Parts: sequence; structure tokens; C-alpha cells
Amino acid sequence: GQAADPPYLRGLNAPQREAVLTTEGPVLVLAGAGTGKTAALTARLAHLLYTRKAWPSELLAVTFTNKAAREMKERIGRMVGDAVEGMPWLGTFHAIGAKMLRRHAELVGLQSNFTILDTDDQLRLLKQLIVAADIDEKRFPARLLAGLIDGWKNKGLTPSDIGADDAAAYANGRGRELYAQYQARLAALNACDFGDLLLHMLVILKRHRDVLELYQQRFKYILVDEYQDTNAVQYLWLRLLAQERKNICCVGDDDQSIYSWRGAQVENILKFEKDFPGAAVIKLEQNYRSTPHILAAASGVIANNGGRLGKTLWTEAGEGEKVRVIGIWDGPEEARRIGDEIEAAQRGGASLDDIAILVRAQHQTREFEDRFIAIGLPYKIVGGFRFYERAEIRDALAYLRLVNQPADDLAFERIVNVPKRGLGDKALAKLHQLARAQGVPLTIAAARILDTDELTPQARRALGNFVGDLARWRDLASSSPASAGEGDRPAQPGGGGGLPHTELARTILDESGYTAMWQADRSAEAAGRLENLTELIRAMEEYDSLGAFLEHVSLVMDNDAQAEREKVTIMTMHAAKGLEYDTVFMPGWEEGLFPSQRALDEGGNASLEEERRLAYVAITRARARATILHAANRRIYGQWTSSIPSRFVGELPADHIEEETTLSGGASLWRANWSEHTDPFANVARGTGRGPGWQRAAGAGGLAPVSNRVLEARAPAVSLGNKGRDDLEVGMRVF
Ligand code: ATP
Ligand code: MG
Repeated sequence: GQAADPPYLRGLNAPQREAVLTTEGPVLVLAGAGTGKTAALTARLAHLLYTRKAWPSELLAVTFTNKAAREMKERIGRMVGDAVEGMPWLGTFHAIGAKMLRRHAELVGLQSNFTILDTDDQLRLLKQLIVAADIDEKRFPARLLAGLIDGWKNKGLTPSDIGADDAAAYANGRGRELYAQYQARLAALNACDFGDLLLHMLVILKRHRDVLELYQQRFKYILVDEYQDTNAVQYLWLRLLAQERKNICCVGDDDQSIYSWRGAQVENILKFEKDFPGAAVIKLEQNYRSTPHILAAASGVIANNGGRLGKTLWTEAGEGEKVRVIGIWDGPEEARRIGDEIEAAQRGGASLDDIAILVRAQHQTREFEDRFIAIGLPYKIVGGFRFYERAEIRDALAYLRLVNQPADDLAFERIVNVPKRGLGDKALAKLHQLARAQGVPLTIAAARILDTDELTPQARRALGNFVGDLARWRDLASSSPASAGEGDRPAQPGGGGGLPHTELARTILDESGYTAMWQADRSAEAAGRLENLTELIRAMEEYDSLGAFLEHVSLVMDNDAQAEREKVTIMTMHAAKGLEYDTVFMPGWEEGLFPSQRALDEGGNASLEEERRLAYVAITRARARATILHAANRRIYGQWTSSIPSRFVGELPADHIEEETTLSGGASLWRANWSEHTDPFANVARGTGRGPGWQRAAGAGGLAPVSNRVLEARAPAVSLGNKGRDDLEVGMRVF
């Protein structure tokens, strides 16, 4: 009877219990969002400990993030008390890989105190090798190579496994050669990168029977959460480690596979049943998280994907509120609206900790951050940096600060050699010496040192150009009108006669070579940084002058003093995996933003389906209230452009949503104001009851051709979206 049950079984439903109690042999739990997969996995760990089937050190348990690992440990602690002490092998694949590799480092030519390189180090190293190999780094950027090597490592491929076809992807077939050189350099440095944490261990397990047997013996039970997002090398690990005892339990949901761009392969779900014949496959169908309306909305969207394994979801929860779909005018109104609603909820007694805003792309957070700071609403950014703390934003701000305030030495130091101008450490040391000796700011010292013969000709030329640039930008800045725009509605570039401060910023970023630096490398990460720079200039439009904007930024940067208070969470949909909140806002459901422009450009169905799974993940984070927003206008490169609602909005089942548009009343007024600039609706077919200019997506197939034309017409050289890659920080890289 239930009364005699150990605490970890109480309240679990029958299939969950089965997942907990079927301890021997392979088990695959395949179930939709919020059905208690993670809960069952946690209870299974508790059960194995409680019944003494294994010691804590004999359990290998893989979570997707470190946060998830910590939470799991806490929960088990509450269920079984001290028995949880020291579960050394509970963590992410990378954390576990690092720990194992330290013990066997010598088998791959490392010492146990090897360092783990971060992305910057990795790139620096690759650049050196590229230069030494006489390859044109402009044509074949280090980031491209880094991406390829990462991809190979995710697939479990060492240099000798790389075929000619794969190698062809870099510098006319030299990819493999450089990969090998890179590995040799790492070994010489007693270092490895993140991919190596998994790949080295795989190599060791394959080549050293004794080590493999050691771990096969040790890990009596293996448990894996978020199984749908494992990649090839992780899968190969699991297969080797579980081969002997076969006590492996994986839980996952094919509809929530959202990391294929990082090498995850949802096919691992199918492989599992093949590699572990006779696996018990358990389905959980009762959802304990969300209301029926929320579930129906999410199911309606994901139903448009093909090739699903298919699942049933039901809930006993009361009907609750319908999913709200709100059409608003533009980005600033979206931020205002969400801010207002959160404040209202707070007044109604809600805790900010129970509210989340889920965005598709990192750069979307900026608008919310600015608004929340303005109204004093505490927030935190999870799984990424706050907008103004991102490296490229700090670089750009350093340029602007230096133009605004020549004595800003910190800014000077940050960008004097970014992009690389050929100023070596020696030249910079001399510059510092002179500044100190004469008690002047670095900018002045820079001008003065040019009159000496302290510098090499190369350094002198480089510094001379930089000093000249700074002077020219300062002249431009002083000719720039105090007030360039008129508040936050359509700015009028050039209206004041001089150079608007947004133009000044663009000029500086272009002439300094900073923009070009990121344009030169075609990696996905660089694309995201360029978007952030665009977003920075967009943010500037809301201030009258460069000075006013920089003032705002310094206030924003200082806003982190609110340590322990309740906070609204802002994060990407990717980072939200596995989490849940009472109230979830999902802004920016517009074509080109979500689904991302990149997914649309790739054209294939695969990337669109991954976006749709992301929509499913996002909606199913909500317990009680889900709100989706789409704006009719976004500002891109200082140009207002019309946007059309995401096709996913059109896929939401009508019975479960409540639509609202703030446009119908004021729309004609807006449009009147608008026509002088551009008519945002000019190209969009009108009138399907969704407010001016909006049309429902034409079923699962997506949008009518006319709308696609609009998409192409807008956004010159801008690619929105593609921000998933910023989430590299999540799970993989943190331990
Ligand atoms: P996701 O697919 O999003 O990772 P999941 O399947 O892992 O979801 P959980 O996070 O484990 O689901 O559970 C969702 C919610 O339901 C949690 O709040 C959890 O505490 C609760 N829950 C799980 N199982 C039960 C149960 N048997 N009875 C009551 N509540 C449950
Ligand atoms: Mg889960």
C-alpha cells in the first residue's frame, strides 16, 4: 500500500513507479513535457540509494545543466537524507568527462592538471596555426575551423578519422592537417578544449580495455535526463559504459530536441532500442505542470511537425486561462506591455520568481532590460550575459566612451588593439610608461609618443592611424546635434543638420574596422555579435545624444546591486529547457525572428521543425499563464520595418487562445503618422481579422507567397535569429 511507501514513491503514478522500480536492464522513458520524467529519474536515483542497490559513487547520472545537477542532488537529499553525500558522478557530460579525464590524462598524453581552454584561447591558438600554415585567415577564419573541429569532436572523430570530404570544408582540404596540428599543440601545452573532455575519454574507453572495465564495473546504474539532446560522442560513451551491465535508464522527449545545431541527434532515441534490445519503453502521459489550454496550444503547434514518435498528453488540472496572443505596435510597446502586466501581477500577489520571459534571440533581451530598469523591476538574465555586459557591446561602448571622454583610459586600453592594429605588448608598455611619467591620459600620451623614436615604424604607423581616427571621430561628435531624433517614435535621420549620434556610432564601428572584424568571420557566433551591435545602435535612437545614452548605460551597468530580491527571469527558449514558471511571456513571435531568419534562409524543413520544437518547449514551460506577443513593426538598422506574425501563431488552435490586438482602435491614426516614412503594411495582404496588415499563416505550410516577398524586401543584410549558439554557455560549458 501507498502508506508504507518510501517517501520518494509517494504521489508517483503507475508508469512513473515502473520507471523507478525497473532497476535492472535498459529502460527508455519517452514522454511529453511536464509528465514527470525528471521527477521519475530523481526518484529512481533515490530508490537505488535507499535500497542499497548502489553506493552514491556507483551511480552515473547525467543532467543537461549544472543547475539541474544541483537541484537533483538537493531533491534526492530531501528524499533519502545523508545517503546522497558524495554523488561524484552526477553532473553534465562535460563535468563528468573532465573528472574522468583527470584520472587518465596520461593515456592521451596529458598530465592530470591539464588546463581547459576557453573559446578565446582556442581561437588564438588556431589563428597561430593558420598563420604558420600560410593560410589566408581572412578567407578561412579561425572561427570556421573552430566550428568544424567542434563538430568533429561532437561526432567522436579524431584527426585520423577525418576523411577527405570532411577535410575539404576548410582551406582546400587542409582541415584535417590543421586539426592534427591543433591537437598536437594542445598536448604540448598540457591543455584541452571542451570537445576534448568527451572525445579524449571516448578514445581512452575504446583503446584501453582495463579503463573501460573499471568504469563498467563501477557504474552499476546509468541515468540520463534530456536524452533527446545527446550527441554522437555522448551516445558512444553511454553505449560503451552500459555494455556490460545494461542498467541504463534514459528519459527524453523527441519533440524537445532543440540542440541539433550543436550535434545532438534525436535518432539516438531510435538507436537505443536497437543497441539495447529488450529495453523497457515506458510512456508517461499525465502532465502535472500545465493547464489544458496551455497543453492544447503546445500540442497544436507541434502537430505540424512530421516524423514524430507521437505521444498522448492529458492533465487533471482545471481548465485555467486560454493562451493569450497579443498583437502590438512595436518593440518598445511590447516591452512596456509586459512590464505593465508583470507589475500588475505583482500587485496581485504574484512572486517575480514565478515569472519568465522567453526570447528566441539574445539580442531581444535589451529592450526588456532597458524598460525594466526604467520602471525599477528587478530581473535576471539566465544562461547569458546581460546585454550591456557582452564583449562586443563593451568593445563598442569603449569606442563611444573614448570619443565622448578622451581621458577614459579603461576604454582606451580595451580597444586600442581591437581589432588588431599590430600594436605589440612592447609598444603598449612604452605608451603606459609615458602616460604615467607625464601624468596624462593614454590618448594624449599616444599623440606625444608619436613625436619620439620609442616605437618601431610599424607600431608608430598603427598608433598614428588610431590617434588620427580618434581625432576625426571627435570632430564628427562635436558637429553632431544635441538632439538627433525625437524620442522613441520613428526617428528622422539627418533631421537636425549634423551627424546624428547613431550615425556617428555606426561610422566609428565601420571606420575602426570593428564591424569588419566580425563580418570577416562567418561563424554563427559572429553573426550574433553583429546583431547585438545593431541592437546597440537601435537602443541609442531612444536617447537624444551620445552623452545621454552613455549616462543611461552607466546607470544600467550599476543596476546589479539587488542581490537577493525576487526577480523576473529573462532567458532564451534554449536555456529554459526542463524549467517551469507560473507565468511565461513569449515576445517576438514574428517571421524572421521566430522562426529565425536563419531557419528560413536555410529553407529546409529540418531547421523549421527544430524551431517548432522550440516553440513547443517554450509554451510548455508555463504552468498557469502563457502569453505570446507579436509586434507589427521592428526597427532594423534605424529603419522601421513591418513584420508579420510567426507562422507558429497561425498554428495555435483557435479554441485554446484568446487574441487581442492593441492596434484596431488606433491603427488608422498610426498609419496616418506613418505614411510619410514608409507604410509598413503596403506589401502585406490585408484583413483576416487579425488587425491591420496581419494575416494568418496558411495552415501548416506556412505563409502566403506575398508575405515571403515582404520578408525578403526587408532586412538588408540583417539576419535575425540564430542565437541558439549563444547558449553554448548553458550546460556544456559550465562546471
Ligand atoms: P520536461 O519535459 O519539461 O523536462 P518533465 O517530464 O521532466 O518535463 P518534471 O519537471 O519532472 O517533468 O515534472 C513537471 C512538474 O510536475 C513538476 O512540477 C513536478 O514536481 C510535477 N510532478 C511530476 N510528477 C508528479 C506526480 N506524480 N504528481 C504530482 N506532481 C508531479
Ligand atoms: Mg525534465
